[in-house]
Amino acid sequence: MISGIIFDIKRYAIHDGPGIRTTIFMKGCPLSCWWCHNPEGVSPKPELMYFEFKCIHCHTCVKVCPENAISFDENETQQIDREKCTGCGVCASACPTSALRLVGRVITVEELLTEIEKDIKLYDDSGGGVTFSGGEPLSQPKFLVESLKELKKRYIHTTVDTSGYAPKEVLKQILPHTDLFLYDIKLYDSGEHEKYTGVPNDIIIENLKFLTGQGKEVILRFPIIPGITDTDKNVKGWTNFISEIKGINEIDLLPFHDVSEKFRRIGREYKMTIHHRPPDEILKWIKEEFESIGLRVKIGG
Ligand code: SF4
Ligand code: SF4
Repeated sequence: MISGIIFDIKRYAIHDGPGIRTTIFMKGCPLSCWWCHNPEGVSPKPELMYFEFKCIHCHTCVKVCPENAISFDENETQQIDREKCTGCGVCASACPTSALRLVGRVITVEELLTEIEKDIKLYDDSGGGVTFSGGEPLSQPKFLVESLKELKKRYIHTTVDTSGYAPKEVLKQILPHTDLFLYDIKLYDSGEHEKYTGVPNDIIIENLKFLTGQGKEVILRFPIIPGITDTDKNVKGWTNFISEIKGINEIDLLPFHDVSEKFRRIGREYKMTIHHRPPDEILKWIKEEFESIGLRVKIGG
């Protein structure tokens, strides 16, 4: 039985492809973007999230943890030793206020299908379907391929939302079972890409060329991160590149918003120093740049 690890299933999603959809958030991503909206999806393993405002400081979590991974300092600030934590979830189950939540659970393809089938009528009525997002769905190829195959057997529309950072072999495997790709582009300069995401972009660019060459429907997604992706050099780099390859008709611009709270709850360092949404005039300018090369442009996913 093939299983994967996911951290959420969102029903009635309307921004992750056509119609009304179910979005499956898969755990594990080879990138670590400074502005990541789902930092709880980066690690491939289950992790604890701590919601401080719910904590009543009863110290039950300290007492039940078999690894002695939780403590409180002299200011009653909770410390989780994430090196020691095995993600067993005992503390989250024992916490009386749900201040601790274990993010990430193993699910089989059969269990996933049972969830998805609850909304088949909605997909039919709205032209919707199922979207795999994350994290990076391509980082769990066996589970993804099997899930997509089963969905296509049921005539359900499939979308994969990806960073494109994966071996081409994986793309080849999912290609016949994927109707639409939502494909993230970030920084055109590979060195800059590596600085802000942790990986260079050569594989991502190669895979994008490959997908469009196969005639697959691809909608680009471009996060507008003030001072990082919204520079003249970066936008022009992408518009020049997209003009050269055929088969891209649409791009979604995703304006930055601050997620520092989420990073804190999952115990990850938040490197962004800018906390404001990009100004409307910047969004308008970027929209016009992509429209000038013939793309349909939507602001928001
Ligand atoms: S998930 Fe398990 S190991 Fe980790 S802190 Fe909680 S009880 Fe301890
Ligand atoms: S068990 Fe829950 S409420 Fe009690 S101290 Fe731990 S996190 Fe806070």
